[in-house]
Amino acid sequence: MIIAIDGPSGAGKSTLGKMLAKRLGLLYLDTGAMYRAVALLAIREGIDASDEEAMTRAAKRAEIRLSGEPGHLHVELNGEDVTEAIRGEKVGQTASVISIVSGVRRFLVERQRILGKSAEHGAVLDGRDIGTVVFPDADIKFFLTAKPEARARRRFEEDERKGLAVSLEKTVREINLRDERDSTREDSPLRIADDALVIDTSEMEIEDVLNAMLAGVRGKQ
Ligand code: C5P
Repeated sequence: MIIAIDGPSGAGKSTLGKMLAKRLGLLYLDTGAMYRAVALLAIREGIDASDEEAMTRAAKRAEIRLSGEPGHLHVELNGEDVTEAIRGEKVGQTASVISIVSGVRRFLVERQRILGKSAEHGAVLDGRDIGTVVFPDADIKFFLTAKPEARARRRFEEDERKGLAVSLEKTVREINLRDERDSTREDSPLRIADDALVIDTSEMEIEDVLNAMLAGVRGKQ
């Protein structure tokens, strides 16, 4: 079984994706982590994010390994544990810049398909283009969204817990910038697949979103 979860940042995709994967015994694949790992490589090597050829070569050089249980995921880049290093806002913004490059997307999408298909019991993939590009035939597609203020607040509180927060206003600006870039790019922009179940999580408790998703999955079985 393949479950696709798409939506803008801060809508709860990764939290819900992990919960759903755990509940259903599926592999959880955080595709954003792959774009972030390539972004980290680009930052470290000083590669110009707008240089498409150099960026595509960097993506091919990035050996990315995702491992661990949904609650304790590890991301490795060329043998180094970068689980924490990829979480900063700079890496997130760079990820949204380099994810415009078609060569980077082609390479990562291919890897995501292989990982998803080879998962023994199936996989939950979270990203921006899972239901539209990576797995257009997914068994079920969710599009999680929330009002910008709710998403910014969640991201801010998450950053605060990690000691990374600056200000709510800055978080709002960053979220808006990333949304704008992710929705307007030419290759695989963030959009709602025709057959996706849309859930606005702004006013919902996590458990209620999970139950709505589980009901959606049951409806497809
Ligand atoms: O989900 P996350 O915030 O970790 O993703 C970081 C960036 O990677 C997103 O802003 C988006 O630009 C890019 N991305 C993408 N396609 C995906 C997953 C992430 O373009 N499937």
